[in-house]
Amino acid sequence: MTSENSNAPTLERVHHELKRRDLEAKSVERLTPSMIRVILIGEDLADFTSLAADDHMKLFVPDASGMMVMRDYTPRAYDNEARTLTVDFAVHDAGPATAWALSAKPGDRLQVGGPRGSAVLKGDIARYVLIADETGLPALGRWVEELGADVEVEAFAAVPGAEDEQDFQSDAKLTMHWIHRSEKEAARPEPFLNAVKTVSCGEGTYIWIAAEARVAKAIRSFFLEERKHPLQWMKAAGYWVHGQADSSEKSIGGSSAKPA
Ligand SMILES: Cc1cc2nc3c(=O)[nH]c(=O)nc-3n(C[C@H](O)[C@H](O)[C@H](O)COP(=O)(O)OP(=O)(O)OC[C@H]3O[C@@H](n4cnc5c(N)ncnc54)[C@H](O)[C@@H]3O)c2cc1C
Repeated sequence: MTSENSNAPTLERVHHELKRRDLEAKSVERLTPSMIRVILIGEDLADFTSLAADDHMKLFVPDASGMMVMRDYTPRAYDNEARTLTVDFAVHDAGPATAWALSAKPGDRLQVGGPRGSAVLKGDIARYVLIADETGLPALGRWVEELGADVEVEAFAAVPGAEDEQDFQSDAKLTMHWIHRSEKEAARPEPFLNAVKTVSCGEGTYIWIAAEARVAKAIRSFFLEERKHPLQWMKAAGYWVHGQADSSEKSIGGSSAKPA
């Protein structure tokens, strides 16, 4: 078990100038049955910045009445030179953002706000345990792709079936576990708890959790109470709340900092 005071990692908050960018869909791809990948393009992306894999930005999409509403999404990848920004949309019983992605085609416009800031993780971290559902999978994919060869990563991702699994390129020593459960079970913690029951989380292990809020809380409690993992070595976020539109619990404990 990692001890509370042994050089716990910190989150350094970096603020970015808040901008709303007017972008166009360059390509729309059904990455897997449960994930749509949209690559956006636009001159406004020349100075886009996102320093942490679990950053989020606001997408402006129309609701059923045509009113513009905002939803949180992860900058899955970006390229300032090519002026592109990749967003992965988990497919579920559609709200406005999912509905936008389901009908998106090249040439469609989308406004994106932020990220307002990045919470950059600093510290001597030898091992990562990353746990996510479909909504956290874009951030998880970015984490494993950005980590270097000197760290171990054990990642757990829940998706409906084998056809929803994704391939990640990583320099890190990555062990990827796919948890299969139906979309109907997305707000149940049990499939995750069964999968992570025996995961090793010794000295220097940082645990990151992004899933439905109740699920994320249950996983956090498991590590905190049963595995006695210190809070400073964890970050848990509820990326959506079952039964509530436009809801999240971005900071449900651990080393998470308040949104910038
Ligand atoms: C920091 C952060 C980063 C995020 N990054 C991503 C990302 O990169 N990709 C991504 O797909 N999502 C991401 N999300 C989650 C996304 O913001 C929510 O899923 C959002 O509710 C989707 O908006 P919507 O308009 O489709 O649905 P809403 O109108 O918000 O919700 C409609 C209904 O759908 C339910 N619902 C929402 N999400 C799901 C789901 N995944 N499965 C089943 N039911 C659901 C709600 O509970 C509600 O009942 C992120 C959230 C946060 C907080």
